Amino acid sequence: MDNSSEKNTHPAFSVREEVRNFSPYVPGLSIDEIRIKYGLSQVIKMASNESPLGASPLVQKAVISHAGLAFRYPQAGNPRLCDAIARNHRLKPEQVVVGNGSDEIIDLLIRLRGVPGKSNILTFSPCFSIYSLQTRFAGLELRQVPLDEDFSFPLHAFLDAADDNTVVAFVTAPDNPSGYTPSLADLLLLVNGLPDSCVLVVDEAYMDFCDNEEAHSLLPQLDSFPNLVICRTFSKSYGLAGLRLGYGLMHPTLADYLHRVRLPFSVNVLAEEAGLAALADVTFRKSLLDVVRKGRIRLKNGLEELGCKVWPSHANFLMFALPESATLNALQFFEIMLSRGIIIRPLKSYGMPDKLRVSMGSDEENNAFLKAAAAILSA
Ligand SMILES: *Cc1c(COP(=O)(O)O)cnc(C)c1O
Repeated sequence: MDNSSEKNTHPAFSVREEVRNFSPYVPGLSIDEIRIKYGLSQVIKMASNESPLGASPLVQKAVISHAGLAFRYPQAGNPRLCDAIARNHRLKPEQVVVGNGSDEIIDLLIRLRGVPGKSNILTFSPCFSIYSLQTRFAGLELRQVPLDEDFSFPLHAFLDAADDNTVVAFVTAPDNPSGYTPSLADLLLLVNGLPDSCVLVVDEAYMDFCDNEEAHSLLPQLDSFPNLVICRTFSKSYGLAGLRLGYGLMHPTLADYLHRVRLPFSVNVLAEEAGLAALADVTFRKSLLDVVRKGRIRLKNGLEELGCKVWPSHANFLMFALPESATLNALQFFEIMLSRGIIIRPLKSYGMPDKLRVSMGSDEENNAFLKAAAAILSA
């Protein structure tokens, strides 16, 4: 007999209690999905904070010219790449751990430090969902401190929520999805105020887009704090989201432990070559940052002219809400945008059904988005 309820109760399918009702990470919709659903020839994706200029031509060349190496395992630990990243940040290679996206570094840190049934992981709420998903998967307690009304960080509440069993605390700077960026003084208060037994992870996935990095990044002070980890990624400002490459910067002792527990080949041969080429292509990166910074101003002004509320952002995206006078809600706006071939991100999965997030596109994409927004809001 082949009935599905029997299938689902097969003893081989019993899983740990805490993952039984797990829902997966909700990604932005893909271009192909929308093209097919609405029969469109062209679709613009401004949903996942990807590069508005595509991948660097030097990266593309590097991937093609190394395609013949596909049969080789990468060098364990990716030392060439770690060296190049270390040089780029004026750190020692022993302070660098690369991963299959910074998602992998986040996951490894949680599992490296957390003791199931004992440890807890601390985040703000709402936050990037990988922190909470991997915490639950690891069987650890998740502690979340609600952000302030204006999306700034309630620092003292965060410190109060930490105890001697808090093994990792995550903050995102600039924050996703709001774009809020804490000051250096705020971050110093956190790193100094957390128990010594807690690792503070500052997820700087979007720091490259910040107008004034010196006033917001703890990276130059990494050597002063043994319990500080900075995560960065090649997915956003280097345009390599599809190749999966990110890294953590930390004390060599912590890095050594991560090297011991990580799967040895999670950064593949082509991702490694692409990363090296991306670091070398200074010109492309500068153009990318210019387009994003200009686009941020353009989109902010454009949305505000339409009466939307736009939150300040140092990232490559903006969070916004429709004007109070709008006759449609955020989800309806998102769906009409889709039907016009423009994908943005509704923030329902972050618990904010009335807000939307749009990534900076190319100049043409930004204009197309604003034109569509104006048409939808005046309909
Ligand atoms: C995009 C993003 C990352 C990076 O993810 P990768 O795995 O490196 O692609 C990390 N943290 C936040 C908050 C992000 O938005």
